[in-house]
Amino acid sequence: MAIATNLGFPRIGEKRELKTLLERFWKGQIDESALRDQSEELQRRHWQWQIEAGIEHLPVGDFSLYDHVLDWVVRVGGIPTRYAGLDGLAQYFAMARGTQGEDSISAMEMTKWFDTNYHYIVPEWTEDQEFTPNFAEFLEEVKRAQEIGSQPRPVILGPVSLLRLGKARGGDFDPLTLLDRLLPVYESLLKELQAIGVAWIQLDEPCLVLDLDEPAQAAIRTSTERLAAATSGLKIVLGTYFGDLRENLPLAMSLPVAAVHLDLVRAPGQLTEALPLVQVGQLLSLGLVDGRNVWRTDLSAALGLAEQAVDALGADRLLIGPSCSLLHSPVDLTAETSIDPEIYPWLAFARQKLEEIERLTQAINQGRASVADCLQENAEILARRKASTRTTNREVRERLSHVTTEMTVRQLPYAQRTVEQRDKLSLPLFPTTTIGSFPQTAEVRRQRALFRQGKLGETEYQAFLERETEACIRLQEDIGLDVLVHGEFERNDMVEFFGERLEGFLVSENGWVQSYGSRCVKPPIIFGDVTRPTPMTVPFTRLAQSLTEKPVKGMLTGPVTILCWSFVRDDQPRSETCRQIALAIRDEVLELEAAGIGLIQIDEPAIREGLPLRKVDHADYLAWAVESFRLSACGVADATQIHTHMCYSEFHDILSAIADLDADVISIETSRSQMELLDAFVDFNYPNEIGPGVYDIHSPRVPTTEEMVTLLEKAAQVIPTERLWVNPDCGLKTRDWPEVEASLRRMVEAAGNLRGVVVSV
Ligand code: GLN
Ligand code: ZN
Repeated sequence: MAIATNLGFPRIGEKRELKTLLERFWKGQIDESALRDQSEELQRRHWQWQIEAGIEHLPVGDFSLYDHVLDWVVRVGGIPTRYAGLDGLAQYFAMARGTQGEDSISAMEMTKWFDTNYHYIVPEWTEDQEFTPNFAEFLEEVKRAQEIGSQPRPVILGPVSLLRLGKARGGDFDPLTLLDRLLPVYESLLKELQAIGVAWIQLDEPCLVLDLDEPAQAAIRTSTERLAAATSGLKIVLGTYFGDLRENLPLAMSLPVAAVHLDLVRAPGQLTEALPLVQVGQLLSLGLVDGRNVWRTDLSAALGLAEQAVDALGADRLLIGPSCSLLHSPVDLTAETSIDPEIYPWLAFARQKLEEIERLTQAINQGRASVADCLQENAEILARRKASTRTTNREVRERLSHVTTEMTVRQLPYAQRTVEQRDKLSLPLFPTTTIGSFPQTAEVRRQRALFRQGKLGETEYQAFLERETEACIRLQEDIGLDVLVHGEFERNDMVEFFGERLEGFLVSENGWVQSYGSRCVKPPIIFGDVTRPTPMTVPFTRLAQSLTEKPVKGMLTGPVTILCWSFVRDDQPRSETCRQIALAIRDEVLELEAAGIGLIQIDEPAIREGLPLRKVDHADYLAWAVESFRLSACGVADATQIHTHMCYSEFHDILSAIADLDADVISIETSRSQMELLDAFVDFNYPNEIGPGVYDIHSPRVPTTEEMVTLLEKAAQVIPTERLWVNPDCGLKTRDWPEVEASLRRMVEAAGNLRGVVVSV
């Protein structure tokens, strides 16, 4: 019999319970035991749901209080020495978030998990790195799952992926050289798991979908062989996801593991290649249900793949599951009450995906006839979606077919545009600005909630937002910033806001997915062709500009980011959807310009994460991504300054594409990596203006003026001063006013100090 499995479940909770718990704990409102008890209760509920849905191999250990990569750093004893003075949760959260106060410690870096919008904490490896096992909590978790009568399948982040996901500190060495030292720790874990009666483990080596050089491939082989040898009784399912194994497929299929999991949603074609490579007695785990999107599975098509595997191997040798962990899916569609009834049946969230896995498994084990009604209903839903008029808008398609190259280039090159912009804006050297958002206080959120619940009238809410905007303008003037923003008080989220205003999108009520730690996002769902019925940002931007003599920067989210941070329709290429969004943003840009806004920022923080995981696929993506950005930006006059902003990604490998965006100014996060990124910009000789973030906005810590001066001096050594901007790493929405005000005052002071130095030179 095929076995129904899962690879991981969302941790955050249907109502974001984990977020609430964490935030209460950080504020000192609950103690550690309450945090632990209540998060265990949450885990138990999630296990229960999976068991009830018929999942036989229950993923355990995938839960985390902040991040699973950080958990593995702790479990293998890879804690950076600067946290050595702390222990327990204080140490754990210090690594994730840094600490405040006199002996403040900076947080570890964060970056995106493969091509998802989930951020993991980047392990820091030193050449003399030692490892020590620290598995007590992990084992407790497994035992708790055993107590409720399930068959827990512990999820283990494999040693090669763990090392590779980290970065080498204090020296140029390959983290994989640490493998020999790391493996004994994993071996000890596997022995302990076997000792407590675990039958299966899920050993995730997602790095198998990346381009691996020979040493990395060899590391996968050595490590998997050693782990398999350490515990002959334990069955390993080797987890791969987010893509195609390509040249790594023969390697993965030749390892001594009980099963290999393949993502057949992203890469259905690899099934045919994999089947002949399945070893005698080995099982194959089929990732048939999309863990990364919200569409109902085409059950018949999925069964087609499964049946191909049944023919080759027999049902007994199959595991059926999602393409990847369901971490990236919202929790429960049935919690939605206001989704358009025509579109609702097209959707499936994590709990519905579990049902799909169960149905597929049943169809394989008992034949299609045993789930005939369900298959029939599924086919009808898919047919209705396909035929729906809600997905097509002729006008947009027509307009898109007439896009010309001229629409994607500015009139003059940067060197000439900048002269016009300088004349028009007359900014000082080291102009100071922010990335857009100001604190989304409890009060802002409360008013929004009241408005949404219909308890606050439109006029009152509008008046409230206008007061906030005005206060924000006044404060920015008082602080002495050079380029102001309106503050984004009317926005819940930089993508959802646009999703609510664009046609072709729908926004769920509870469709949250974890972004990092306690932070969640609610990606809008793009189901149809995109249009902009009315201006989206013009009124608040215009208002802000009317309140001040200083220039106000308009604030938009770019087409690639809207695409990447939405659940995207799966019935047309992503590039097509992106271009549609670009046209809508272009209209908004032009309307801002017409309203007298001289600087417009089009945020593209997600451009890097949209990059395909394999190098050979990069050029194609970058071409349409860059073209979409330019389509959105290039309609303006040369004197209008286009900004863009990026953060929390490895930008090194796409610098030439970033330059191709041809934004006049880019603000970019750098402080978490101590301006390392800047070196890359310098090596590349970035041609336009840059604002390297001078302080980390993810930490409540107020930076000192001196440290920002130091960072700016570092930047000024490598970037011509007339092209250098001064700004924080990212938007300030998650911070509180007192720290924002204090930080920005010091930032302005730091810029002032530099102006003094430069003038006196
Ligand atoms: N303008 C947005 C803000 O300030 C940018 C956020 C982001 O880069 N993620 O919040
Ligand atoms: Zn940012």
